[in-house]
This record gives sequence, C-alpha cells and structure tokens, in this order.
Amino acid sequence: MNIVLIGPQGSGKGEQAKRLIEKFNLAYFSAGDLLRDLAGEESGQGKVIHHLMNVEGKLIPDEIMNKLVFDKLNEIDWKNGLLFDGFPRTQHQFAELEKYLTSKAEKVDRLIYLKIKPQTSISRLTSRRICPKCKTIYNLVTDRPKEDEKCDKCGLKLVQRLDESPQAIENRLKSYYELTEPLIDQARKEGLLEEIDGEKPIGEVFQEIVEKLPQ
Ligand code: AMP
Repeated sequence: MNIVLIGPQGSGKGEQAKRLIEKFNLAYFSAGDLLRDLAGEESGQGKVIHHLMNVEGKLIPDEIMNKLVFDKLNEIDWKNGLLFDGFPRTQHQFAELEKYLTSKAEKVDRLIYLKIKPQTSISRLTSRRICPKCKTIYNLVTDRPKEDEKCDKCGLKLVQRLDESPQAIENRLKSYYELTEPLIDQARKEGLLEEIDGEKPIGEVFQEIVEKLPQ
C-alpha cells in the first residue's frame, strides 16, 4: 500500500506519518527531511535549497525535486509500501510520481488530506519548537515540554525551525494554496482522496485515517 499524506503546514502530517508507518510497516519518505539534510550541505545545490526553503519559504522547482525524490526511492527498500509526507505537492510532481510507480508495477492507493483552517496553520506553526539535537517537536500551547522551552529528553533549549519565521510561513502557505490545492482537486476527481478533519485531536485523526484506508 502506497499512501500520500497531504495538507497545509501544521496539519499534523509528521505525527500521523509516525503512527502509520509503525502500524502498517511502511517505508517513510519525508520530502522536508530529505531537503533539510541537503540544505545543510556546502554544495551549490545545498545553498540553493537552503535559500528557497529557509529564507524564502518557497517550493523547490519540480524538476529538481522530482529527481531528488526518485533517486532516493531507488536507494531505499520500500517493498512493503511507502508513506509519502510532503511529496507530491504540485500536479506535476503527482503526475511524475504516478509514472514512476507505474514503472515499478505500483500505484498511489490513497491521498489522505488533513484539512485545517489557515488560522490553525499559523497558530500551530508559530508555537512549534524543535530540539536541535534529537529533533523532537513540541508545541508551546498544546504539547509543552516539562521545563520551560527545554527538550524533555536532551535538556537543550528548543529552537524554531528556520522556515518558521512569519514571512517564510506566509510564503509557504501561499505556495500551498496556489500549487497544492489544485492537486487535491485532481485527486478528488480521480477518486483517490480521503478527506480528514485535521482540527481534531491527534488520536482521533489517526483512527479516522485507519478506517478510511483500503483493508
Ligand atoms: P515540510 O517540512 O514538509 O513543511 O517542508 C519544508 C520545505 O521544504 C517547504 O516549505 C519547501 O520549501 C520544501 N519542500 C518540501 N516538500 C517539497 C516538495 N514536494 N516540493 C518542493 N519543495 C518542497
């Protein structure tokens, strides 16, 4: 089973992904994690990715993104199925993913759309903090660390993601509404979309996703 998790920033894709890969023993592909690793490299490509992601909050162009993703998929073992988090984000990426999977006699089984209001994205993102070492994510409103802004596991001071400045958040949401919503409409027409209310508590959202996946 190959599943795509889709939704605006702060819709809880990462948290749901963790639970789904465990329950269904799927390989995990996070576009954001792949790009954050590359953005830390000193190469020309690393610098371009860093600038687009962290300074401008814009999407990486499709041609570059598709190549990075398919090169990575060629390296990892996903015979039990894949869970995509953050890819595809445009209609072109979706079309290329479908072609890639068809070439491996596979397909996208479902797109799970975690729907939240724009205001929820903004409030969840501005209160999100991350441990610089173990990458555990906290939310200063809904999932506070035990001690003020310190990681429960490492004790380090929590930081904001570089791309969570107000300007980068605004640009990321703009890209989402301009480029990703058309892909959601397309998946709906193709009968591949399951829409879930992402405003609900994490456990309830997870239950609903599980119920909607093919048995
Ligand atoms: P995420 O952690 O999924 O919110 O991704 C962080 C940033 O990585 C995004 O704001 C984009 O700049 C970039 N990014 C992630 N996924 C994609 C994608 N599928 N296509 C282009 N850029 C992406």
